[in-house]
Amino acid sequence: MRVHIHCLKDSFLELYEYHLTILSLLFLKSVQSLELELLVYIAIIMHIKKARYLISSPSYEKCPASDKPEYAFIGRSNVGKSSLINMLCNNEKLAKTSNAPGKTQMINHFEIISVSNAGDTKETKWYLVDLPGYGFAKISKSSRRRWEQMIENYLRKRTNLVNVFVLIDARHSPQKLDLDFIKHLGLWEIPFTLLFTKADKEKQDVVSKNVKLFLEDLRQTQQFLPQHFVTSSVKKLGRNKILDLIQEMNDDWVWEMKLK
Ligand code: GDP
Repeated sequence: MRVHIHCLKDSFLELYEYHLTILSLLFLKSVQSLELELLVYIAIIMHIKKARYLISSPSYEKCPASDKPEYAFIGRSNVGKSSLINMLCNNEKLAKTSNAPGKTQMINHFEIISVSNAGDTKETKWYLVDLPGYGFAKISKSSRRRWEQMIENYLRKRTNLVNVFVLIDARHSPQKLDLDFIKHLGLWEIPFTLLFTKADKEKQDVVSKNVKLFLEDLRQTQQFLPQHFVTSSVKKLGRNKILDLIQEMNDDWVWEMKLK
């Protein structure tokens, strides 16, 4: 019996915890002569080995040593940030730690240890940062000003910050608060990716319409449109795409460090 196997990497597949998945038996050629042709998709998906809460810092100066690539998550309060962080790290309780009273206005660091594929032994360490959300209705002017200053300093001065993930509620039409925040990221030349959250809570065509409107609004102020993913923490939608992107950026970061 002869078996021809074609292997492809397809990072766009939404596979949940599988690292090797046979998606389809495409050709079943001449079964009588026992000759099979298989198309095998190998999905290489970052595997999170460990995720732990590290520290909450009141300013960028107090943050842990900037020796690992760092990814910050931010959005309006209640946008689904904790749920998304937990979904990415496969840990239901992780981000709730940073929601504890007193820590909500802090820069919250998590240390993540991952491998690029489940079988790999080479580990990469990186930071995931949960930033305090914007858009609290009941907040004094001085508290808001403090938040703005802390966030601006962190975003502009944290040298190992690789990318900011801005969370947008996919159920709503574009909100000024989100657009204003993104406008600043553009002005400060900070790389960012949009994550549209809670997609499972709304019809797909409404989500698509909201995403389209948001990108159209962004086009008014941004020279280039950012990458964006539609996500759902409940359905684990978007997980592989986000982790894939982080993996790519981690690899680039390691290369850049070697060249320095
Ligand atoms: P945060 O304030 O931005 O950290 O938001 P949370 O993660 O605490 O989420 C706010 C609320 O939205 C909670 O009741 C979550 O259970 C719910 N939620 C968050 N993400 C999703 C999602 O993807 N799908 C659904 N159906 N509910 C979600």
